[in-house]
Amino acid sequence: MTLRRARFLVLALFSLAVSAQERPSGARPSRTELAPGVFLFSTPPYGDVGLDGNSVAVLSNDGVLVFDTNGTPAAAAAVLAEIRTLTDKPVRYVVNSHWHWDHWYGTETYRRAFPGVHVVTHEKTRAIMMGPAIEFNRPGLETQLPAYLQSLERRAAADPKLAPTLDEDRFFLQQKKDAQLVVPDMTFSSRLGLDLGARHIEVLNYGRGVTPGDTFAYLPAEKILLLGDLIVNPITFALSGYPSEWLRVLERVDELDATTIVTGHGAPLHDKALLRATMQVFRVLLREGKASKEKGLTADQAKDAIFPGLHDLMIAIAGDDAGRQAAFKTQLVDWYLHRVYDELDGPLTDAIAPIPRS
Ligand SMILES: [Zn+2]
Repeated sequence: MTLRRARFLVLALFSLAVSAQERPSGARPSRTELAPGVFLFSTPPYGDVGLDGNSVAVLSNDGVLVFDTNGTPAAAAAVLAEIRTLTDKPVRYVVNSHWHWDHWYGTETYRRAFPGVHVVTHEKTRAIMMGPAIEFNRPGLETQLPAYLQSLERRAAADPKLAPTLDEDRFFLQQKKDAQLVVPDMTFSSRLGLDLGARHIEVLNYGRGVTPGDTFAYLPAEKILLLGDLIVNPITFALSGYPSEWLRVLERVDELDATTIVTGHGAPLHDKALLRATMQVFRVLLREGKASKEKGLTADQAKDAIFPGLHDLMIAIAGDDAGRQAAFKTQLVDWYLHRVYDELDGPLTDAIAPIPRS
């Protein structure tokens, strides 16, 4: 190999290593201080194919706790770069709220930077991360997303305006394929109290909600709740949830004294209005779903019958935005109602349910 060629290869490898951590769009996380030393980081979507969950850093004089680690190592690296501008203390704990990829695929970034970091989640979430979560994601990574990228490549060839979206989408797929998944090394079943410097953090599970092992965090002194996807601002994503147990979980969450609520996605909340409106949707769907099933309606017929009665709650949650209203109807009403029907047919297992066809 000539010296010139060797130098070219070294440069190419170096630029690959750098670019692997940089999004093509150059987009950076936004930062919101929820209380002194408690920061929420949110990232923009990956082109038109993916969304990260919120990530929160709790700083202390003895290190940092990070709640949820985004959907890609690159996003987590961008958040960690922000954290490093705020403190020189190490990240001691990572807490992952649940098994959905957009909340934990970035954990390797923290493990590489802080080999002693403890990664914490509920015992059922860890079990799902070890296998079922990977299988659930496989068709998307191996078939659906590559097929979508091919169609976008054809469209982008005719329309150069699509090039930035294509770059972000390709980057997203590569990040997800290359992610070295880090399974938590510390689990709990109902409660884990963590003391970090002067902070006290309650890591909690109140039963099955959107997933079998929803892990949320409560900071009693700061009155902050970090809920993961137990609710989402504005529209909760009710795929494969546990309808009646989930309502009971939220009723107990509602009893906690909190003035700031960070949901799995979206802006932080400063009151419980969305939590309570979402619980009210659940109550209507549990009650009306049961009555509809007794009348012999299918889940889809039940949805058509029940939906008009949810109009005021839809406006309270989704406003007059057509896209949000469509998400309310599908991701909250339709998916939750199908699970109400599943639950009425017998006890729900911890297996991941498929997306209902409608
Ligand atoms: Zn999520």
